[in-house]
Amino acid sequence: MNKIPRLNFAHLPTPIEELPRLSDHLGGPRLLVKRDDQTGLAFGGNKTRKLEFLVAEAREQGAKTLISGGALQSNHCRQTAAAAARYGFDCILVLNGEMPDKPSANLLLDQLFGAEIVTIADRNERDRVLQETFDKAIADGRKPYLVPYGGSSATGALGYAFAMEELMKQKPCEGSQPSQGCPDWIIFGTSSGGTHAGLMLGQRVFGFKGKVLGISIDESEEWLKSHVSKLATEASEKMGERIEFTQAEVLANAAYCEAGYGVLTDAEREAVNLFAKYEGLLLDPVYTGRAAAGVIDLIRKGYFTKNETVLFWHTGGQPALFAEKYANKI
Ligand SMILES: *Cc1c(COP(=O)(O)O)cnc(C)c1O
Repeated sequence: MNKIPRLNFAHLPTPIEELPRLSDHLGGPRLLVKRDDQTGLAFGGNKTRKLEFLVAEAREQGAKTLISGGALQSNHCRQTAAAAARYGFDCILVLNGEMPDKPSANLLLDQLFGAEIVTIADRNERDRVLQETFDKAIADGRKPYLVPYGGSSATGALGYAFAMEELMKQKPCEGSQPSQGCPDWIIFGTSSGGTHAGLMLGQRVFGFKGKVLGISIDESEEWLKSHVSKLATEASEKMGERIEFTQAEVLANAAYCEAGYGVLTDAEREAVNLFAKYEGLLLDPVYTGRAAAGVIDLIRKGYFTKNETVLFWHTGGQPALFAEKYANKI
């Protein structure tokens, strides 16, 4: 395997916990959760694993400024701003949404980490403004590194390839396979595709025998299949050997995102409430709430057999519970 630049700041391995009360309540399969909401950087979340590789790459290139973009309550931008602060980079974030009088949750934290924030009203303008911001930073001699949306480049996806290696060394996997306690299914929220692509690459490289299923937060199944297979293929080259991933092998379910990105429906509300009331576990309204709503629906439809093990990969995002947009609506 190639020597891949990486910084080690995530708290790893993240724990795996059983969810017996929730499983009983749903009359479902054995449920596990992998706590990537506990990756340790500024309230944690899945972007931390990607940033270990992205920030290392930025350093190797001699960058001085990290630039990224996302929604006003982006978890990715919050973790990027924290990583920038920790490693002495400037940070510029291009966020779509209207700057509120009193910033809260992720946006408040972005400011606390010293990020410079550019807001734009129209999401469709984001690519253009991000590019202009990047070009201006070059012209100003700020040596920018562009962290892609969601940290989902081939470099960022490596974080989740190695997360799969981590899982395979943890109880209940440790060399065992489905039917011996290692999950039959890994399920998580997928959006910019880096987590999904990384897990698929890790599945192949480290020999995970279960299935890897992404519940779409906001993208079509078609887009995810095409994007995730390409990203996994590109990331495989960084690990030293090109593996061709096909669209057909990407498992993605886009049945739960009709309401649109960040729109809270009864399904997300129920999921957040069930995880809280049966397990004392916090989900977020945008990502894990929606992904868990998908898992709950699939359980109710009898998609899994009772003796299967389903691992819900918690990707973080809880600060959004306190955002003006969601607080008191959950
Ligand atoms: C970004 C994010 C996701 C989606 O991960 P991708 O790699 O972008 O597909 C899921 N959950 C949370 C909490 C996130 O912040």
